[in-house]
Parts: sequence; C-alpha cells; structure tokens
Amino acid sequence: MPEDASEVYDVTIIGAGPAGLFAAFYAGLRGMRTKIVEALPEVGGQLAVLYPEKFIYDVPGHPKIMAKDLVKQLIEQIHLFEPTMVLGQRIETLTRKQFEGEEVWRLGTDTGSHLTRTVVITAGIGAFEPNKLDRPGVGDYLDKGVYYFVKDKRPFRGKKILIIGGGDTAIDWALNLKDWAESITLIHRRDQFRCHEGSMAHLKTTEIPIMTFWELKRIEGDGSAPKSATIYENRTAEERTIPVDIVLISTGFKAALGPITKWGMEMVDNRHIKTNVFMATNLPGVFAAGDIAAVEGSAPLNLIVTGFGHAAIAANACKTHIDPAARMFPGHSSEMKL
Ligand code: FAD
Repeated sequence: MPEDASEVYDVTIIGAGPAGLFAAFYAGLRGMRTKIVEALPEVGGQLAVLYPEKFIYDVPGHPKIMAKDLVKQLIEQIHLFEPTMVLGQRIETLTRKQFEGEEVWRLGTDTGSHLTRTVVITAGIGAFEPNKLDRPGVGDYLDKGVYYFVKDKRPFRGKKILIIGGGDTAIDWALNLKDWAESITLIHRRDQFRCHEGSMAHLKTTEIPIMTFWELKRIEGDGSAPKSATIYENRTAEERTIPVDIVLISTGFKAALGPITKWGMEMVDNRHIKTNVFMATNLPGVFAAGDIAAVEGSAPLNLIVTGFGHAAIAANACKTHIDPAARMFPGHSSEMKL
C-alpha cells in the first residue's frame, strides 16, 4: 500500500484541461495553496489530445488561436502562482480522512494519495489514456524501448525509431525527432492522416519513409531492448523486418469517467456531476467545473468559455468554504499587483 501524502493543500484540481488550468489561476489569485493532478503526462485536456493544431474562434479576446497555443498561454498565466503540477496520475478514489485534527479529502491514486481541504473536479469527458496496441513484444518492452508518449527526448537520440500512427501526435513527433534520431520510419494502417495539412506537407519534404497500409506485427528484442520490428502490409500481407531501437505507438486516445461516478456525487445522465450555482456538488468542499459540470437551472454548453466561468466561480467558492469570513468576489485583477 503506497504511503499517504504528508501535507494538505487548500485546493486540488482533478484534470488539467482549460477549466482545470484556469481554476488554478483563480485559486492562486486567492492565495490558496493549489495542486493540479492530471492523468496524462501532458496538460491541455481535449485541446492537447484531440485537436492541438486546430484553430479556435470563440475564446474571448482571441479572434483565432490554435488549441495548443491557448494551452501554452494558460500555462504561462498560472505560472504566476506556481501551483504544484502532478502529471501521469489518475485519481481513483475520493474519501474523507482525519489528518492532524482536521477532516480533509483524500484523493487516492495507484501510487499514493493527495490530501486537500477542497477539490475542484474538472475531469471533462474523463481521464484520457492512449489506445493500447496488443502485439507480441509490446508489453515486454514497454518503457524499455516501446513508448506511448515521449516524456523525455533524450533516450531517442541517435536511435532507429519506428513511429506508428497517422494523427497530429505521430506526425509532430516524426518531425520533432527527425534531426535527433538516427532514422525514423512512420507506418500507418490507412492512407488518410488526421493531422494538420501543413505538418504533412512538411513531413513529405523530409527523408522519413511514410508507409501507408502497414501495421506492426511483432517486436523482437534481446530481453532488455527491442532490436527489430516485423511489420506487414494489411492489403497484401507482405511482411518486412526492420531494425529498431525504439517503437513509439501513437494511435490515439480514449477517455473514460471511470471511478468518478462512484464517489458519491449526484450525477446527471451518469456523465455529468450535478452542481448548484456555486459549482458545489452534494459533497462538502467538492466542486465541479467545465464539461463535467451540470449546473442546476442552467443550460448545458460544453465550451471552453463556459468552463472558464465555472472555474472562476468554483475556485472562489473554495476560498469561502475554507474561510467562511472571506468574500466570494475576489476583487478585480486589474487592481492587484501581480
Ligand atoms: P477536458 O478538456 O476534457 O480536460 C479534462 C482533463 O481531465 C483531461 O486532461 C483528463 O485526462 C483529465 N482527467 C479526467 N479524469 C481524471 C482523473 N480521474 N484523474 C486525473 N485526471 C483526470 N470548445 C470551444 O469553446 N471552442 C471550440 O472551437 C471547440 N472545438 C472543439 C473541437 C473538438 C474536436 C473537440 C473534441 C472539442 C472542442 N471544444 C471546443 C470543446 C472543448 O474542448 C471542451 O469544452 C473543453 O476542452 C472542456 O474543458 P475541461 O477542462 O472541462 O475538460
């Protein structure tokens, strides 16, 4: 059993999509000690995972902004308050706990826990996880040469890399790693790519072979690292074995609300958490914001701008929950010295 956390935060935010990131901004503005926990090793939620290269036209003050650039700016905005960021951990449980004479929330993960006075759930459509590829060798070399994410580019230097996938992430990593790796081969099971046209045009100017209708059959290695990958043409069944040091699997993501529905909160249609106009759920000190929140008496509108509004309300409501003497209204940021 992993050890419990030894310190209590004022606010812990579950999910680092736009609503979670903006909640962290307001929590910081109110002087609360803030932590964000995100299931993926990267922040940005749907913007980073599903449409990083698409333009968004309905974020106030930005006539047109690419999703990944909006994420960058949200990160820049919260760095002012330096919240603690915990990436790659999915919150599985939400329970009450006595800690040094105080009743707090315990957020459990499979590696440990987080203790907090209030919680803001900004879990969107659920925790993202990569689609897994079930082929011989993948499990044997996972994190020893087979990866679903590039968390650190260093192990990729001078290596022979096979990239699998046809979305933005696969193409972006092929471009990003091309001068870093000894060689890159890209395989994709179809001849249609779900990526930005400009990225594909750029990829075609490089020496990277783009093999469409090819899929992974198996990975062979020496027990400690991959040495080769056998791939096959899915129309003709032709097989080839190519030398590889690294296989990067980038075949999309799926999202699942998973355990959240079992935390004792009132749900609406089993996909949304019911809140009042303060974004409060039926659990004391637990708030919800963004796509996951169904505000009683309000029309559902799953948009970034709605999530920002929810996030501001939820973070300020956390403040008044912790300190009932505090005002809900934070004051105008334009009057503050930040
Ligand atoms: P999300 O962005 O879904 O982020 C939730 C995060 O929580 C995820 O990163 C997830 O991994 C994490 N998480 C979930 N559960 C857990 C857990 N148990 N533990 C840890 N982490 C967890 N909206 C607009 O306003 N304008 C647009 O133009 C627009 N275009 C879109 C285009 C597409 C293709 C799509 C799919 C959506 C678009 N949207 C647009 C909608 C917009 O992206 C969402 O409204 C917004 O992302 C919701 O933000 P969120 O922070 O609530 O949740």
